Amino acid sequence: MTDQCSLEGRVAIVTGASRGIGREIVLHLAAKGAQVVVCYRVNVEKAEEVATIINKDRGVGRAITCQVDVSKASDVGALFDRAEQTFGGVHIFVNSAGVASSTYPTVAETPEEEWEFIFNVNGKGAFLGCREAAKRVVRGGGGRIIHITSSAVGSAKPGYGAYAASKAAAETMIKILARELRGTKITANCVAPGPVATEMFFAGKSEALIERVAKEVPFERLGEVGDVAPVVTFLVSDGGDWVNAQVVRANGGTP
Ligand code: NAP
Repeated sequence: MTDQCSLEGRVAIVTGASRGIGREIVLHLAAKGAQVVVCYRVNVEKAEEVATIINKDRGVGRAITCQVDVSKASDVGALFDRAEQTFGGVHIFVNSAGVASSTYPTVAETPEEEWEFIFNVNGKGAFLGCREAAKRVVRGGGGRIIHITSSAVGSAKPGYGAYAASKAAAETMIKILARELRGTKITANCVAPGPVATEMFFAGKSEALIERVAKEVPFERLGEVGDVAPVVTFLVSDGGDWVNAQVVRANGGTP
């Protein structure tokens, strides 16, 4: 029986791959055989480190790095250019780049600039990624578009107004995109993690709050990046062909 999760011969772009969830995703996709573009915004050293791990393990030329600000259309276009010039057509686009508030303001206390910053990266960034990917991801089989959104959309906790709203926008858009891509055999889905132990999660939280959040999860622990990456790997593989226009909440059952 063939390995339905093999990504040999596939080319994948992963944004936000210098750190956290995106880093683990790009490592998983490469381990399954994909040639990958490890994207970062400022952390070039960390991105290079990820590419070096992959190239050492999988053979030189499997991974390249690319600087991109997902909220800039010219950057997103140049990213696909780079991937195509290096590897040929792009099969898989995973947008894990994202930002959140580290002060968790109520809606009433959210500064306009913070709302704009979060929507610029999470909302406009999702749109620009979707738009480029919709035009350029390979047609006819194996095409995949994934946005990493958040279970905060469903949990609707105080302090997450701008963040959850920006992710909700991306979740709605991806479902529409999936239907607009009729006839291309490209699937478009969101993976929505619950709390995951990354820099983003820990920013601005007290020890007591971290413990409380962890206890809310039925597994009584925070999610790890390794809990999320296999879900994405499955969705972008041939085994994930029939999952389309969905939001997959990978959160260990967090309320
Ligand atoms: P993280 O550790 O803070 O990493 C964020 C990544 O996004 C970094 O690679 C960063 O690049 C990149 N990035 C930030 N702004 C960017 C921009 N404007 N353009 C391009 N790249 C940009 O975050 P994470 O926890 O891995 O989160 C990854 C995704 O999962 C995000 O979309 C987040 O909203 C979502 N999520 C996280 C959690 C959680 O609890 N951690 C829960 C649910 C959903 P540099 O390293 O170069 O700065």
